[in-house]
Amino acid sequence: MDESYDVAVIGGGPGGTAAACFLQKSGHRCVLFERAAFPRYSIGESLIPHSYGTLDRLGLIPKLRESAFTKKFSVRFVSPDGRDSDPFYFSETIEGNGAQTWQVDRDQFDLMCREHAIECGVHVRKGVVEHVDFADGRAVGVRVRSAAGTGEFSARVIVDASGRATALGNQLDLKESIPSLCKSTVWSYYRGGARGVGLSAGETTILLFPDKSWAWYIPLLDDVVSVGIVGDTETIFHGDEAAEEAFLRHVAASPGLGERLSTAQHLGPVRGGRQHLAYRNRETVGDGWVMVGDARAFLDPIYSSGVFLALESAEQAALSIHEALVANDVSKARLGTFEPRLNAGVDVISQLIHAFYDPSFGFGEFLRRHPDQRPALIDCLVGDVFKDMSSFTAALASLAHT
Ligand SMILES: Cc1cc2nc3c(=O)[nH]c(=O)nc-3n(C[C@H](O)[C@H](O)[C@H](O)COP(=O)(O)OP(=O)(O)OC[C@H]3O[C@@H](n4cnc5c(N)ncnc54)[C@H](O)[C@@H]3O)c2cc1C
Repeated sequence: MDESYDVAVIGGGPGGTAAACFLQKSGHRCVLFERAAFPRYSIGESLIPHSYGTLDRLGLIPKLRESAFTKKFSVRFVSPDGRDSDPFYFSETIEGNGAQTWQVDRDQFDLMCREHAIECGVHVRKGVVEHVDFADGRAVGVRVRSAAGTGEFSARVIVDASGRATALGNQLDLKESIPSLCKSTVWSYYRGGARGVGLSAGETTILLFPDKSWAWYIPLLDDVVSVGIVGDTETIFHGDEAAEEAFLRHVAASPGLGERLSTAQHLGPVRGGRQHLAYRNRETVGDGWVMVGDARAFLDPIYSSGVFLALESAEQAALSIHEALVANDVSKARLGTFEPRLNAGVDVISQLIHAFYDPSFGFGEFLRRHPDQRPALIDCLVGDVFKDMSSFTAALASLAHT
């Protein structure tokens, strides 16, 4: 072995840097390997308010406050015929600073997370983790390729935070798609799109289409907006059309997008394509290893929960990993003590995602039948799901069939 650490983290996105920072701050020697040269592009620009707690405990809030990132106070929905709902301001249910979050240009946000990890004392290194090494069924190290050649690093715990690359999921053949969420997406960028005024200037707009597909509209830095279309592959693409063709056709067909982008300049490129966006791993913790963030699972972008779940899973996992390291027991059972709570919260978000795509479900009808569930619905949309949500999920199940 070239070098030895307490924890080796694969991937330097929000999940990997958060896990490494928490563990380094708890006194464990952490190394983080990132294959890309930063700053690097990433999708996932809209944060939700309950990211605030983890960002605060990481020490990132002062940096975010000093940044120029777009401040986000609200979300607005637009019906298929182009009618705007009233914005939903997070301050309706959240008191204090946590009622505001940010739309982040991910190249800059992830660079901020990376620099913060270095400040926390994490050894951040450029390199591709090619293989996780096992001995007697336990993960014991990683093999890393870098400009300097190939190196072997031993660690007591390996954290897979490799995002959609799902390094361990692929190596251990654990990854599976989620058949009930077979969505595709195409997205791109414009300069000069319309923005709201005052507190609404930075809001996320979700534009609904008649066939349960939808578009996001997210204001970023430098007067740029991120626009993306999500839906069943056969509704996003006509025949064998290319991603750019499909994207521009949807933009042209949407009254809400047409109005907002009428004087905007298309910056391109069009990204995405035919894919199964959603996947999970049959196992997410094992002897000596833990998955966090997108390396665990990815459900759907509809409620902008990806970065929140990456941060949340990293923080919850870091606590279990810390306790396991202190107890000198890195067994699956010990490392996985965080999972029941995390999975219960993710299940609530998953049910709300499935409800969104259920043809028999509508939020208006849901709230007419269950007006008492409005606060719980809002809790779910802002990420406040790591608590008892059983009456909410029972109400959801009474209307949604999938
Ligand atoms: C279309 C779409 C729209 C989305 N919109 C939103 C949104 O509005 N809001 C939101 O919160 N989320 C959104 N998401 C989700 C969000 O992008 C992810 O959930 C989030 O980036 C996950 O963070 P992560 O740290 O787990 O992984 P990533 O941010 O993907 O980081 C993983 C890192 O690992 C590195 N890596 C991979 N393999 C290796 C290896 N073998 N060795 C070394 N390094 C490696 C990669 O280079 C990368 O930097 C969206 C996702 C999609 C697909």
